[in-house]
Amino acid sequence: MCDYGGRKIARFIFITGGVVSSLGKGLASAALGALLQSRGYSVRLRKLDPYLNVDPGTMSPFEHGEVFVTDDGAETDLDLGHYERFTGVAARHSDSVSSGRIYSNVLEKERRGDYLGKTIQVIPHVTNEIKDFISIGEDEVDFMLCEIGGTIGDIEGLPFFEAIRQFSQEKPRGECIFMHLTLLPFIKASGELKTKPTQHSVKELRSIGIAPDILVCRSEGPIPVKEREKLALFCNVRPESVIAAQDLKSIYEAPLAYHKEGLDQAVLDAFNIAPAPKPDLNVWEDVADRVYNPEGEVNVAIVGKYTQLEDAYKSIAEALTHGGLANRVKVNVEWVDAETYDKKDPAPELQGFNAILVPGGFGERGTEGKIKAAKFARENHVPYLGICLGMQMAVIEAARNVIGYKNAGSEEFDHEAGKKRFEPVVYHLKEWIQGNQTVERSVGDDKGGTMRLGAYNATLLDGSKVASIYGKSQIEERHRHRYEVDTQYQKELETAGLVFSGMSPDGRLPEIVEWADHPWFIGVQFHPELKSKPFDPHPLFRDFIEAAKKTSRLV
Ligand code: GLN
Repeated sequence: MCDYGGRKIARFIFITGGVVSSLGKGLASAALGALLQSRGYSVRLRKLDPYLNVDPGTMSPFEHGEVFVTDDGAETDLDLGHYERFTGVAARHSDSVSSGRIYSNVLEKERRGDYLGKTIQVIPHVTNEIKDFISIGEDEVDFMLCEIGGTIGDIEGLPFFEAIRQFSQEKPRGECIFMHLTLLPFIKASGELKTKPTQHSVKELRSIGIAPDILVCRSEGPIPVKEREKLALFCNVRPESVIAAQDLKSIYEAPLAYHKEGLDQAVLDAFNIAPAPKPDLNVWEDVADRVYNPEGEVNVAIVGKYTQLEDAYKSIAEALTHGGLANRVKVNVEWVDAETYDKKDPAPELQGFNAILVPGGFGERGTEGKIKAAKFARENHVPYLGICLGMQMAVIEAARNVIGYKNAGSEEFDHEAGKKRFEPVVYHLKEWIQGNQTVERSVGDDKGGTMRLGAYNATLLDGSKVASIYGKSQIEERHRHRYEVDTQYQKELETAGLVFSGMSPDGRLPEIVEWADHPWFIGVQFHPELKSKPFDPHPLFRDFIEAAKKTSRLV
C-alpha cells in the first residue's frame, strides 16, 4: 500500500477491453488478482458495467448468464464469481456497479436537492459518482483491480472511461495503471497474426486520454517477436508489457500461464515496485496438476431450464469441476433441457449418468420434468443434488409420489397462472428475519432485489448426512429466492423419510432436506456453488462427486 502522510491508499489497475467482447477480461483480471496475492499482496476486484439495468438481478439468464449473489445480498455480474473463485476474496455490494445504478444515485441526489440547484451533467456529476464508487475501501487493500465492462468505443461506456481517466489524473503519479485486452486475429490464408485491430483499439483509447501500460493480447498461438515489437512500437508500450493470452484448456491454468508470460512482473514494473516480492504459486500448481491428471471420470446430468447458455449456470459448472478436483476425477457435464421430460420418461436418458443435479430457476416451465428427474434419482438411488428450485421440486416430488398429495406444487406457479391449482407445499414468503430485523415483501413488489438475498445461517441436524459433510452444525450460505418449503408438511414428510436436516436458526425456514434411506439425495434452499473455489471445493460438491464416483465404472 502507498502511504500518503499516514493515509494508506491502494494502487489501482484499470482493465479495459477492445476489438471484440468475450475476450476473457474477467478471467484475466481474476488471474492477475491471484498472482498479486501469490506475491503477498492483498487485492479487491471490482466490476463497472455500462448497461442501464440497475443490477443484473432482473436480467434473463439467457441474456446475461447467471446472477452472482454476494454475502451482503447484491445481485451482481458473473465476473464477480470469477474474482471470488480465483482470489477467495468474498465480493461485496460495493464491488459491482452499472450505469443504471450510477444514474439512479445521481437522480436521487438531484431530487433530494443535494446539488444545490446546479445543472446536472455527465461530467462532472456522473463521473464523480463513478469515481466515488471506485475509491470505496481504497484504504483496505494493496491493489484495487477495476474492470470496465464492454468494449472501448461503446457509447454507454464513455462516462466510465472518462471517470477512470480523471481518477488517474487526480492520484499522485504512478498510482494507477491501465491494462487493455485485445484480440490478435490469425489469418489462415496468409498465415499471419494481425496487429491492426489492436492498434486501432489503442488509438481509440488514447483519443480519450488513456494510454495503456500493458497490453494483453488474446491469440491462438504465441506472439512472434516481430509482432510483439510492432505492437509495442505502434501502441506505445514496452515489448515486455505485451502479454500473450493463448487459449487454455482449463481456465484454472490462467494464473500460471499469465505468470509465465510475465503479466504480474509487468504490472509491478509499471508501478515501479522493485525488488518485486517472489511469487508462491504452489496452490495453482496443485490445482493445475489435478485438472490435467485426473484418475477417472464421472458423468453428471444437469436438468435445468437455461441449458442453451452454459453461462446461466456458470458457478454450478465450476463447482462441479472443483468437486472433481477434490476427488481427482474429470466431471463431464451434460446439459438436459428439463422441458423435454415434461412429456417423456426420463429413465432411458438418465440411467446413463452417475449423478443428477437440478439447479435453481424461476417460473413453471420445465418444472414437471425436474420433478420427474428427482423421482428417478430417488427411486433408482442415483446421487441427486437439488439447488434452490431443485430442492423445492424434490419436496413436491416427495409430497406427490411418496405421501400421495397428487396436487402438490408451488405457489410460484399459481401466481404465474393467476389461479389456484396446487396444494402449495412451497409457498410465497412474505416476511422473514434478517439479522434482527423483520423483512416484509408482497407479491406485487418490484421484481428487482425483492428476494431473500445473501448470506443466512442454518443449523444442521445432529447425525444427518449434511452435518457430517460440513463437519459442523452451523453454516452460512447465500440465498436468492422468493418461495420456501412449508413446514406444515414437515412431520408427514419426515415420517416418510425426507429429513429436514438444515433449518434457519429460528426453525421456521427449511434450508436442507435429505432422504434418509438414499445413498446421496440432498436438496438445499441456498446456492452452495457460489462459495466453491478450485483450491477449496465446497463440501457439498466434493461429497456429491465422491458419491458419483462410487457409481462410476470409469474410475
Ligand atoms: N423460483 C424459486 C423461488 O423463487 C427458486 C429460485 C431459485 O432457484 N433461485 O423461490
